[in-house]
Amino acid sequence: MSERALFSLHFFTGTREEAVERALALLRERRGACVVTPNPEIVLRAEKEPALREALQDAALCLPDGVGLVWASRLAGKPLKNRIPGVDFAGLLMERLAREGGSVFLLGAKPGVAALAAQKLQERCVGLHVCGARHGYFSPREEEELLREIASCRPDLLLVCLGSPRQELWMRAHAEDTNAGLLIGLGGALDVMSGSVPRAPLRWQRAGLEWLYRLLHEPRRIARVWRLPGIFHLALKERNGRNDCDEG
Ligand code: UDP
Repeated sequence: MSERALFSLHFFTGTREEAVERALALLRERRGACVVTPNPEIVLRAEKEPALREALQDAALCLPDGVGLVWASRLAGKPLKNRIPGVDFAGLLMERLAREGGSVFLLGAKPGVAALAAQKLQERCVGLHVCGARHGYFSPREEEELLREIASCRPDLLLVCLGSPRQELWMRAHAEDTNAGLLIGLGGALDVMSGSVPRAPLRWQRAGLEWLYRLLHEPRRIARVWRLPGIFHLALKERNGRNDCDEG
């Protein structure tokens, strides 16, 4: 599998379509493999938080989400060719699953959002069976019952949209208990799929300005965006220190 070691992680370097093929192969093994979709914010956090870093390192597939990662990879001298936004990847994967009558369980976001996303998904991906939808504000006491519910559905795919680092840590701790074929940590994807948060128009996405579009729609994100140039500092450190380039 083509991967590139960067920022202590192993990023998938293929196209979105190749990532979908790889994910389908993992899903068919039905071992509860995890897919993570780190953006620069998550990478920066993982530098400081070993538990998050290990969860990202242990994932079967690590997709570079966020144009900032692609830019930083060039600066580090280890270019990642393709940005693979988690929400696009999951969309393509679910279109493929729909053709086979596969199933998905949606976990995360505020009450009502996952159910709305389920409705939209079933309209868009005819044939896809959304076998469950639960919001992401459950307490530790409710967790056991939630896990039982997911496991009883035995979903092909489980979308875990709890925000980072909660989703990565949750997947690492519970993947096996869910009985899911494959799990994907997807941040705010259910907000987008439900239509609660608008996705940047294609022109903005292609120009690498999706982050700016989100910022304009959710100005409270400024505190998060503010820290992101740190990824370029990390890239320079990587360039000067760890120069062991490995692709193949
Ligand atoms: N969320 C959740 N449970 C929590 C905290 C957050 O379900 O305990 C959800 C939140 O409602 C949102 C998502 O996780 O839908 C995180 O979205 P954000 O935009 O922060 O993620 P990003 O897409 O930027 O990674």
